[in-house]
Amino acid sequence: MTNTAPATSIKANQTHGGITLLIVDGQIDFHPGRGGRPDGSLAIPDADKDATRIANLIKSTLSNSKGGDDDDDGPDDDDGPDDATKSENTSAKDKNLNPGGSSKSAGRQISRRINRIVATMDSHHKLDIAHGSFWVDKDDNHPAPFTIIESKEIQDGKWMPRGDLKLPPGDENFVDPKIFITDEPLYDEDGTFNLLQYAIEYTKRLEEGGKFKLCIWPEHCLMGTIGHCIEPEIQEALNQWSDHNGSLVEYVLKGQSILTEMYSALKAEVELSESTKFNTNLLQSLRQSDYILICGEALSHCVNHTARDMIDNMKGEEHKFIVLQDCASSVPGFDAAGQEFLTYMEEKGATICPDFNTAFDEIDKIDVSKKRRKLSPCCT
Ligand SMILES: [Zn+2]
Repeated sequence: MTNTAPATSIKANQTHGGITLLIVDGQIDFHPGRGGRPDGSLAIPDADKDATRIANLIKSTLSNSKGGDDDDDGPDDDDGPDDATKSENTSAKDKNLNPGGSSKSAGRQISRRINRIVATMDSHHKLDIAHGSFWVDKDDNHPAPFTIIESKEIQDGKWMPRGDLKLPPGDENFVDPKIFITDEPLYDEDGTFNLLQYAIEYTKRLEEGGKFKLCIWPEHCLMGTIGHCIEPEIQEALNQWSDHNGSLVEYVLKGQSILTEMYSALKAEVELSESTKFNTNLLQSLRQSDYILICGEALSHCVNHTARDMIDNMKGEEHKFIVLQDCASSVPGFDAAGQEFLTYMEEKGATICPDFNTAFDEIDKIDVSKKRRKLSPCCT
């Protein structure tokens, strides 16, 4: 039941406390086709199952959470879920509850409510440094998807940025020389930007960073195309959540700069300007949550680096992170990176939740052990 009674004023979406669902890049281009829709251009084979689970998780909270402007459903409250949600989650609970004692036996359960939803959206131009159409060889051929372009290959003339590329006029901060500092200036006196020199320097910095070399991806998430849209099953659930709660989904675009990649929603791989620097506002906003459920695509790339950037900058709050393992998949061929990410998060103190049905049970457990630690400060 939604609370849609008229009001004469509105207040800000609750940002303090509660459970936030962070859906990273749950967009059509990362999903296999269904219902007559063709495969996304960078479809991850299991992403459609992830999408169904994400949608089910969101919808499972609608039957019991109150719509409207209540403030009292955060994890620090003692109200439990209603019967409908209990029965929805019964089988998963039976499978997953710790036989040593559930949160219920500890005397409390949090509300099955998602207070905020933040949905990041990979957002590219057609001409992008990680798309083949940006590059040419001496015969004017473009590199195929999944080609790796190394700095030395650009220096040697194997691959070059296309010669007719024009950067948007008047954007002095496209590459800000105060942020992307080079020995030799990249701008001539007349303002012409030395794109070749930039490309050599950019790829060198990527390689020195040791994370990724420049990979040419299939063109994906082009702004304005169907592939950029949120996967319809997820979007339908988002709309229902929004209508039910009177809250807005917070969409965060990433990847619009054509000269740097952006796996993490918080910062570009190489920072070029104010707009590609670490997004402190987003981090500060997210860290106000009591818990952050993380899911989306791809586990090996954008989920991975978004979550790492968050947990690395939230010392002492690592327990807030719950990675929904069955709501995220790796790009084929990058499973090791996905596994390494899960290990990293677990070692940092995050919870890896293998079954989304038990996400709230995991939060119950963390909440209870947090309370116990508070009551017994001398015990570790
Ligand atoms: Zn992308």
